[in-house]
Amino acid sequence: MSERTRDEVVASVSDVFARTFGSAPTGVWSAPGRVNLIGEHTDYNGGLCLPIALPQRTYAAVSRRDDGVLRMASAQQDGVVEVALDDISPKQPGGWGSYVAGVLWALRRDGLPVDGLDVVVDSTVPFGAGLSSSAALECAVAAAASDLFDLDLLASTEGRARLAARCVEAENEIAGAPTGGMDQSASLLCDDAAALLLDCRSGETRQVPFDLDASGYVLLVTDTRAEHALVDGQYAARRDACEAAARDLGVETLREIGPAGLDDALGRLGSDEVRRRVRHVVTEIERVTLAVTALEAGDLDEVGRLFDLSHASLRDDYEVSCEELDVATATARSHGALGARMTGGGFGGSCIAIVRAADADAVAAAIAAAFEAEGFTPPVSFTVTASGPADRDR
Ligand code: ADP
Ligand code: MG
Repeated sequence: MSERTRDEVVASVSDVFARTFGSAPTGVWSAPGRVNLIGEHTDYNGGLCLPIALPQRTYAAVSRRDDGVLRMASAQQDGVVEVALDDISPKQPGGWGSYVAGVLWALRRDGLPVDGLDVVVDSTVPFGAGLSSSAALECAVAAAASDLFDLDLLASTEGRARLAARCVEAENEIAGAPTGGMDQSASLLCDDAAALLLDCRSGETRQVPFDLDASGYVLLVTDTRAEHALVDGQYAARRDACEAAARDLGVETLREIGPAGLDDALGRLGSDEVRRRVRHVVTEIERVTLAVTALEAGDLDEVGRLFDLSHASLRDDYEVSCEELDVATATARSHGALGARMTGGGFGGSCIAIVRAADADAVAAAIAAAFEAEGFTPPVSFTVTASGPADRDR
C-alpha cells in the first residue's frame, strides 16, 4: 500500500484547513486504526480482547470555537458539514459528520465545557476494512477537544479511558452503530510495540509486549475488500443473541460463564444455534488468556495455533466469516503462516496472519492469486507494527 508519512499528512491536512476555514489550525491531532489480535465479538460480552494500534491513522487539524458551532470537512468526503452543538442528534448532522459531532455531544453530556470546533480530517486508515476508521476519527477529535478545552484527559490512563467511553457513546448513540468498546480503547490506550489486553467487564487494561520483528516474523494484514450487505444487521443480531442467552442463563454477561461452566451452560440452552454462539464467546475469551501467556513466553507457534482456532470458531460457531476471509486465512496457512484469522466484526474486512518476514511478499502474492482464481475483488495486503495511541502531532 502506498502510504503517506505522518509528516506529509500533518502538513497537507493543515493546508486544507487553512484553505477551508481561512486561517491555520491551532494544532493537529491523530489517532490510529487497530487490528484485534484475538478476542473477537467478546467486547460486548464483558470479555477480553487484545488489539494493537496500527501505523495507519486519522489526522484532525482543529481550532476551537466558542459559539456553539461545529464545522467539519474531510479529505475523504465532499463539502463542509456544519451543525449547532445543541442540535446534535441521531438525525443531525447525519452521515460521516455524526461521528465527529457525537464526540462533542458525549463530552458535553459528561459535563465537559466543549463550545465548538472547526475540524478538517484526513486519514490513512482504509474505510470499512475492519480496521476501525470510525474509532480513529472519533478519537482524533476527542484528543483535540481535550487539549483545546484544557480537559487534560490525554495525560493519564484514566483520562484516556474516559475519552474512549465518550467516543463509544458517540458511535452508539449518535452515529447509530451498536459496536462494543474495543476500538476506541485501542485507539486511545495502545502503546508502541505492545498489544492492549482489555478487560471489557472491569475496564482494566494491561500492555503485553508485541514485537514480532525481534523474532523475524511480521503481522500481515489483508483487506479482503469484500462487500457484503446486511453487515450491521448481522452484528446487531449476534449482540442480541448473546444478551438473550445471558438472560436465559441468569448471568449479567457471557463472561460470567467461564470455561469450567461451559458444558453446564450449553446443556441449559434450547437451540443449537444459541449454543454455538455461546460456545464461541466463552472459548474465545479463554483463547485471549492463552494468547497472552504464549506471547509473554515468546511462543509464537502457540499464538498461531490460537489464531487458527479463533478463526474456526468465528466461521463455524459464530458464523461471521465469509468466503473471502476463509480463502485468505487458508491460503496464508498453506503458505507457511503460523496462524491466520479474520479480525474485526466479520462478513468482509481484514484477515491477519503471522508470517516469516522473508515470506510476507510471497504470502501476499499467494492470497492475491487465490482471490483472482475465485473471481474475488483484488485484496490489499500490508505488514503492520504495533504503534502508538491518539496524540497531538503539531
Ligand atoms: P470501519 O470503522 O471498520 O472502517 P465503519 O463503517 O465503522 O468502518 O466506519 C466507516 C465510516 O466512518 C465511514 O463510512 C465514514 O462515515 C466514517 N469515517 C471514517 N473515517 C473518515 C474520514 N477520514 N473522513 C470522513 N469520514 C470518515
Ligand atoms: Mg467502525
